[in-house]
Amino acid sequence: ARTPVNVTVTGAAGQIGYALLFRIASGQLLGADVPVKLRLLEIPQAVKAAEGTAMELDDCAFPLLAGIDIFDNPTDGFAGANVALLVGARPRTKGMERGDLLEANGGIFGPQGKAINDGAADDIRVLVVGNPANTNALIASAAAPDVPAERFTAMTRLDHNRALSQLAAKTGTTVSDIKKLTIWGNHSATQYPDIFHAEVAGKNAAEVVNDEAWLADTFIPTVAKRGAAIIEARGASSAASAANAAIDHVHDWVNGTPEGDWTSAAIPSDGSYGVAEGIISSFPVVSKNGKWEIVQGLEVNEFSRARIDATVAELVEERDAVKQLGLI
Ligand code: NDP
Repeated sequence: ARTPVNVTVTGAAGQIGYALLFRIASGQLLGADVPVKLRLLEIPQAVKAAEGTAMELDDCAFPLLAGIDIFDNPTDGFAGANVALLVGARPRTKGMERGDLLEANGGIFGPQGKAINDGAADDIRVLVVGNPANTNALIASAAAPDVPAERFTAMTRLDHNRALSQLAAKTGTTVSDIKKLTIWGNHSATQYPDIFHAEVAGKNAAEVVNDEAWLADTFIPTVAKRGAAIIEARGASSAASAANAAIDHVHDWVNGTPEGDWTSAAIPSDGSYGVAEGIISSFPVVSKNGKWEIVQGLEVNEFSRARIDATVAELVEERDAVKQLGLI
């Protein structure tokens, strides 16, 4: 039998955690033949709720679930972790300034990065979901100097999936007809969903749509503001779709992306496409041999350039702010 893979999930008792853990345990994260051990990390007040979720996981009798442990401190939570899903974060509350938000999250993601540095397995892969995800990932990475920077990533896959769905609806196709869509930049309102290189049933998506006003005034804001629209409709934030995107991200990272397509993930910039080196920004990416690679050589038109520059500028500001706070 294969050795189980250790998967640490933070914020395990939260909404996204509840939608995520059962899918991991059923084999959808890594593959239907890979046993997993879950390590649930929570703040002390939420440990009891995490224990309740663990009881339900037990009651599913998942054949691939080789064990569940619950922790209230990062040192134990990340010990031996092969995959870490950092979901728990400090949400922005009313009247909170950006600096306060970044500082509060620095207090979470700094110690988690250090614990990953000191105790995770050599092949550790980290996906940050908790917002502000890109900058939280940067903080964790900076606290983990012995872990290659490329192992710290942030989630823009939900934005990618939202964009797929919107474009399919607009073109009267299905998501499986669409390829090579890209989310650039920050997982925030400035993100840029780019269809200029995308294909709809083999044809260029921008040409099929042929409507720049729709792109600028409908598509981009609908994708960027989808989270708020879901809160408005459902009375609670998106959780199942966020968990689904986290599964997609890690699954593709480990198992590779399909030939002839790419996806979107926030990974450390190597300076490609004029994106400031070192920030964790979303790019068009493929995964090969367990590593993300930025798709190279795409032409960036004027429409795209302005939007990529704007979302990258926001990430640079966030980086400078956390630098000033001494968090990186
Ligand atoms: P959720 O599980 O709904 O969300 C968790 C995080 O995911 C939030 O930062 C949220 O950001 C973010 N997120 C990213 N993308 C999305 C998306 N598309 N839709 C919704 N959320 C998204 O939060 P809960 O409050 O239900 O649960 C959080 C849990 O984390 C709690 O149980 C808490 O105890 C725990 N926690 C654990 C910590 C730790 O392990 N050290 C530290 C802090 C909290 P946003 O707020 O911007 O929506």
